[in-house]
Amino acid sequence: MAVTLETPLSRVLGPKTATSMAEQLNLHTVRDLLRHYPRRYARRGEQADLADVQVGDRVTVLAQVRSVTTRPMRNRRGSLTEVVVGDGSGRMKLVFFNHRHAALKVNAWGMFAGTVGEYRGEKQFAHPDMHLLDNDSGDDDWARALIPIYPASKDVSSWVIQKSLKLLLGPQGNLAGLVEDPLPEEMRTRHGILPLAAALLDIHRPTTMEDVEHASHRLKWDEALILQLTLAARRRAAALEPGTARPRRSGGLLDAVDAALPFALTDGQRAVGEELAAELDRDQPMHRLLQGEVGSGKTVVALRAMAQVVDAGGQAALLAPTEVLAAQHARGIRELLGPLGRAGEIDGDPAGTRVTLLTGSLKAAAKRAARADVADGRSGIVVGTHALLQEGVEFADLGLVVVDEQHRFGVEQRDALRAKGNRPPHVLVMTATPIPRTVAMTVYGDLEVSTLRQLPSGRGGVASSVVPVSEKRNWLDRAWERLREEVAAGRQAYVVCPRIGDDASDAAGSDDEPEDADGAPDDGPRGDRRPPLAVLDVAELLRAGPLAGLRLEVLHGRLTPEEKDARMRAFAAREIDVLVATTVVEVGVDVPNATVMVVMDADRFGVSQLHQLRGRVARGQHPGLCLLVTDASSSSSTGQRLAAVAATSDGFELARLDLETRREGDILGAAQSGRRSGVRMLSLLEDEDLIAAARAEATALLDTERGLADHPGLAAEVARLATDERAEWLEKA
Ligand code: ADP
Ligand code: MG
Repeated sequence: MAVTLETPLSRVLGPKTATSMAEQLNLHTVRDLLRHYPRRYARRGEQADLADVQVGDRVTVLAQVRSVTTRPMRNRRGSLTEVVVGDGSGRMKLVFFNHRHAALKVNAWGMFAGTVGEYRGEKQFAHPDMHLLDNDSGDDDWARALIPIYPASKDVSSWVIQKSLKLLLGPQGNLAGLVEDPLPEEMRTRHGILPLAAALLDIHRPTTMEDVEHASHRLKWDEALILQLTLAARRRAAALEPGTARPRRSGGLLDAVDAALPFALTDGQRAVGEELAAELDRDQPMHRLLQGEVGSGKTVVALRAMAQVVDAGGQAALLAPTEVLAAQHARGIRELLGPLGRAGEIDGDPAGTRVTLLTGSLKAAAKRAARADVADGRSGIVVGTHALLQEGVEFADLGLVVVDEQHRFGVEQRDALRAKGNRPPHVLVMTATPIPRTVAMTVYGDLEVSTLRQLPSGRGGVASSVVPVSEKRNWLDRAWERLREEVAAGRQAYVVCPRIGDDASDAAGSDDEPEDADGAPDDGPRGDRRPPLAVLDVAELLRAGPLAGLRLEVLHGRLTPEEKDARMRAFAAREIDVLVATTVVEVGVDVPNATVMVVMDADRFGVSQLHQLRGRVARGQHPGLCLLVTDASSSSSTGQRLAAVAATSDGFELARLDLETRREGDILGAAQSGRRSGVRMLSLLEDEDLIAAARAEATALLDTERGLADHPGLAAEVARLATDERAEWLEKA
């Protein structure tokens, strides 16, 4: 039987190996095994593996035996063999009980795999798996300069994978008959890309690191191109959807908004506004991502687009991630529109529309009334939380969907709201978690991107510092003093804590509160850490001590929505000096008079989250101050991460930092709500040029009349990715 890429591994490998590969490494077919790439390559004699391994790591190392000693055990029968291996940079001890390995001789080379343990301060492997390299057997695998080290599992070691591949590839390593190259030759020539068979061979059996580089370049191209083809196809499909043009009309709501704005638009707001106005005027639905620094003024850009749609006879929905934010948006829009936002009420302007707030906490009667207003079109602007997505919420003519703080929502939620239009509505998603260009091209590749880089002028900016309480006890006292000074000068402050408190089991909040999607990266086992500081405890301490006499209130997800709304209003009205809160204030909350933010246990928050939090202050003309309070020492990686946040206010740079601390799959996973991306080797951060080139090729290919018709190999790969995605969907459903 001829072996193809689809051949199950059980046909070509031993049953035990095949089963373990399937169960432990998710490798089922020849294709899967060929695409199981080495994690790295070991070189005899010159690497720093052993010096780098950490206790608890599961590793495979290549090393040479330095000494072997066997002695009887003191308290038990039997013997203990200790073998010291080294690799030039480090040493490590292997211990075996009652085991003699005749081949374990001084100077022998071998691969050793296991979980790194520690005994009396020394790193060691107890009973490692090992594979000795035998120079005499004519086994040319080991004669090679570079030995691939594969991601391995309990029963499938790196060398079993290597051996299995050897079996597949044959001694000569002939893949030409097995794999067909999906990339058109002329594209390969243009970008200097290796043929697929050669690349696969070189990734598994390279002679030099240069081979590896060329091979991985090729394999990355596959991933990037297939992904970009998928996204380009999605964009094309979207472009073919019939939408409804919502042209700009003068003398309506939009003009009223412009007249009512208490400030002049920034150049960026104006430019993006033009872009949106033109796109809304087309009968293909807009799909646009508006990313802009925290405080860059995205809301007003969205509101102007919404007003244009209402002027054209449609409805606009604004989806916000929390009730606090939804309520704030509704309030802000109503204030701005004045009588024009109260059509149908006594003092309303009949030429205007209604602004309806629809959240989960509305009482049944109010909810019914709100839904009716939405269903029969009386309400042109609908602001809400997830409640908007529910069944039973119907629109008379939904023309525009705005999703605020996109990172809180998945693609499904965007789609759920979209489906409520008679025809696909225009879609604008907004995020203040800026996304590097490549990630935008990949994760949000089906959206066009607009960026607001500029902050409205006259902003004071935020000065940030880390307050390492374990090293500088008195800095915290100084922090509270600073806060008091600001309040004395008429300003307001937030104190943010990771937890609500007063309840052992409380996670940070109720349904309404954003889940901690991007919590602080793990710095290791945290079982012995004290629980994070809680809003209720901290508020009490502050009231009794450093902030005594100030008007201090708490805000968190366990309050009722009415209470929350009342507190936010009171804070906005300056009736409260200090708000001690959970991350419920993280997104979007806008009180320009607030100038100080003290983040307690700052190390428990992720980089982007801290940046978001910090964006709550200095939104007016006064300069802001953000203090990141932490127990972490300034030299620890956590301390350094906080220092990096304090050192820059460039959200793009911080987003990069945030991404670097996560794994590639997590980035794609989080943003694509778990869909499989087919990305293994591609680095969204490092392969920017390659991704851009692949995107251009993908677009060009699909723009031709025949599309992928002349490229069945590519079409098949794209279809495979789509199948994987669907499979994932089914699993989730
Ligand atoms: P974000 O982009 O973070 O959502 P917002 O839309 O909440 O920011 O705007 C932040 C603050 O800046 C708000 O108080 C808003 O009224 C104000 N603002 C927006 N545009 C301008 C402008 N062009 N000039 C001055 N202030 C502005
Ligand atoms: Mg906002």
